[in-house]
Amino acid sequence: MTDNGGYEVPYPRLGSRFDEAEISLLTSLLTSTEGLSQGPLRDRFEADFRDYVGSAHAFSMTSGTVALRLAIQLLGLNPGDEVIVTPQTYNATIQPLLELDVRVRFCDIDPNTLNIDVDVLRTLISPRTRAVILVHYGGLPADMDEIVRLSREHGFLVVEDAAHALGAEYRGRRPGSLGDIGCFSFHSTKNITTLGEGGMITFDRDDWAERVLRWRGNQCDGIYRSLPPSATPIPPVPQALYPELSYTHECVEVRYAGTNATMSEPAAGVGRLQLRKLPELTARRRSNAGQLDQTLAALPGARIQRAPHDVLHAYHLYTFFVDPESGVDRDRVVARLRELGVEVWLRYFPLHLLPEWRRLGHGLGECPVAERLWFGQQINLPCQPWLGETQIKKMRVALEETFSEVTA
Ligand SMILES: *Cc1c(COP(=O)(O)O)cnc(C)c1O
Repeated sequence: MTDNGGYEVPYPRLGSRFDEAEISLLTSLLTSTEGLSQGPLRDRFEADFRDYVGSAHAFSMTSGTVALRLAIQLLGLNPGDEVIVTPQTYNATIQPLLELDVRVRFCDIDPNTLNIDVDVLRTLISPRTRAVILVHYGGLPADMDEIVRLSREHGFLVVEDAAHALGAEYRGRRPGSLGDIGCFSFHSTKNITTLGEGGMITFDRDDWAERVLRWRGNQCDGIYRSLPPSATPIPPVPQALYPELSYTHECVEVRYAGTNATMSEPAAGVGRLQLRKLPELTARRRSNAGQLDQTLAALPGARIQRAPHDVLHAYHLYTFFVDPESGVDRDRVVARLRELGVEVWLRYFPLHLLPEWRRLGHGLGECPVAERLWFGQQINLPCQPWLGETQIKKMRVALEETFSEVTA
């Protein structure tokens, strides 16, 4: 029995893999007397990430959750504003909105991509709409050209939760550079990892960059103003001893207290190495997914996900569906696959049905497609890059056996 509960094809608790490169980097960092905080590796990882994504700015964070929280902070929402969000994502995507006095409108999803359905999105836009927060579900990019076009027409901002989408491409561009703000996660399960936790925020605006640098360096996110040279705000002695702490400006308005939310040197160094491996890691995920597609496409009762021809699916999650017309019971499929050694986890419970959102009046019927899929059709399978041929084969045989039973 392993910590995977004995599954021959375990759910990926580690979405990537480490090798000698990471180990020797860590050895040299841990045997040196250099500090491990706010150093050059962090700056280099951020520069690499900007180049990769194609954004003007990239700031490392301690997690994807922190990046998303900061993204929502940057939106500058006011009471009464409306934000349109996807219900089919991890709850960290939208959780900070619970603390704000804003109206959240859940946008139903497309039954193939599980991304927000642009036709539904159009019906939810109002003069009070300030932002859309979406996810590229499983690593399949959302319909960004049309979403961004609508955002420019109606004057709202677009936040991409790109936690699944590292390695994906959309019409020759990369998620995280398509909307106004991109948020990434390097959690252990994600396509690359910075030693278990970590994240990144990307955007183009220079004024946001200044705010983020102050905020994650434990200064307030607010409005600062230079003091006239004649003003003497603090006594002269400390100023002479610490000229860098002379505080020649004052904070006129505090919007958010500062915090420390930056990545350590070992994490950032590993992040750079992992980013270099990303093309190979993504190719392996895509190859695994292709093999699963091949098997499932031939099975009555199963429906595979189809990626549009001009996007590259990063397959953070491999998703397929049982066909509701076939009468196949999704829960039976999941239970049988588990019995046959395939560890299936379903992702994600529709957010509008979580207790904290129901408390605010959201509920069943609000996103019928998301509900139908979650409660009866969608299934995720392991497709991490380090699965071996034997494990893929095992999964394909388990799928064939399961569907022959449930359709009998
Ligand atoms: C993992 C994940 C997050 C949160 O990232 P952490 O780094 O775990 O905080 C946010 N959104 C989605 C869609 C995720 O999958």
